[in-house]
Amino acid sequence: MRRVVDASPTARRTPSRADPTVPCSPPFYPHYISPKQTLTAPIPSTKQAPATTEQAGTEAKPKTERRKRVLSGVQPTGSIHLGNYFGAIKNWVKMQEEFDAFYCVVDLHAITAGGHDPKELVKSTRSSAAIYLAAGLDPARSNVLGLDPARSNVFVQSHVSAHSELCWLLNCATPIGWLEKMIQFKEKARKAGEDVSVGLLDYPVLMASDILLYNADIVPVGEDQRQHLELTRDIAGRVNNLYGGGKWKKMGPKGSRAPSGRFRGGEILRVPDAYIPEAGARVMSLTDGSAKMSKSNPAEGSRINVLDSPDEIAKKIKRCKTDAFEGLEFGNPERPEATNLLTMYQLCTGMTKEEVLGECGSMRWGDFKPALTDAVIEHLTPIQARYAEIVEEEGYLDGVLKKGADAANEVAEKTVADVRDAMGFMERIH
Ligand code: ATP
Ligand code: MG
Repeated sequence: MRRVVDASPTARRTPSRADPTVPCSPPFYPHYISPKQTLTAPIPSTKQAPATTEQAGTEAKPKTERRKRVLSGVQPTGSIHLGNYFGAIKNWVKMQEEFDAFYCVVDLHAITAGGHDPKELVKSTRSSAAIYLAAGLDPARSNVLGLDPARSNVFVQSHVSAHSELCWLLNCATPIGWLEKMIQFKEKARKAGEDVSVGLLDYPVLMASDILLYNADIVPVGEDQRQHLELTRDIAGRVNNLYGGGKWKKMGPKGSRAPSGRFRGGEILRVPDAYIPEAGARVMSLTDGSAKMSKSNPAEGSRINVLDSPDEIAKKIKRCKTDAFEGLEFGNPERPEATNLLTMYQLCTGMTKEEVLGECGSMRWGDFKPALTDAVIEHLTPIQARYAEIVEEEGYLDGVLKKGADAANEVAEKTVADVRDAMGFMERIH
């Protein structure tokens, strides 16, 4: 009954990005500037100013083009759910066509709360990486969207030690007041009480390191990460102010080069932008339309996981919270569940809001729930099939992750070496 396996709302309104004959520019990803601004402005170009090294400042050698870079990650704290998928991963798949893409499983973040289960962590790390590939980030195969084989670098964060190192360097440049203001910290710390870990306070700095190490131009995240992206921009600006420019230039003889090969001076770290999707930016819990769907919610029925079986999906949707109003509608503040479930239907079918309203606006919950169940199952089935293939093929996932980590290390090592250099650490003797 449902029409397409996967066609995003954008894909239905504009020529398909999957079609290699369709020119890629202008890019359609909105640009993030301020928390209040709506997301309409296009990114100027995916082609960067000429660059030969990875760095943001003055370049050393004759000019070659650098593709703009995207970086993002999900923490392996449990099963990847529809919020992670629509809020983050699905956008990564589109972006890898136009951007130099680095996507990591952020396992260092997964232990921030303290007291994690080590066996679960390794299992969840592998499973998350396999979901990335199955959802369309596999560098070696065509993905479920029918795109060309992708070019993403998929890796595990802890396989690149520069993440931890840069985190320390940035910690020492970050005022603690900036971290105490983070909404997620305040919320989670309230729940953790006296047991709140230093990691919980510090995790936005690790996130800033993740992004800044790769000189990412753009970072696709869900709405909940908006504040952390702002913080990343602030930290980058502070480090550039404290140690960049003229001060960095003076760290070596006139016209000398930093460890990355670029000339000393200018910005050490590139200040990134966030990309927050209009639909899917905040997929809400099935049991409370005013709370976001989360891996860490102990109620399994609050989320639909990408790997849930059709039976589990049907059960969860059957039990999900509804209301006593007639018909279905988007945007009624008294009906957060209606907005959430209609949006989920919209995202799974690739229909526009208007099409969804035309089809479902006069439905009762009893009719809509089976339609939503079909749509979710139909959307997830090919991803699950690909996931099964990936985990069954011996050594395949490891091979992809090794290649990804090699590529990531190459970039990250240069950035952290430049930060060390600018901050005055003596160069390692080889
Ligand atoms: P946890 O509960 O452990 O924090 P999480 O579900 O919030 O897990 P994260 O790993 O923190 O997932 O986030 C990974 C990415 O998914 C981020 O870009 C985040 O913005 C996005 N994301 C998380 N939850 C949602 C959601 N409900 N809707 C849209 N995007 C989401
Ligand atoms: Mg989270």
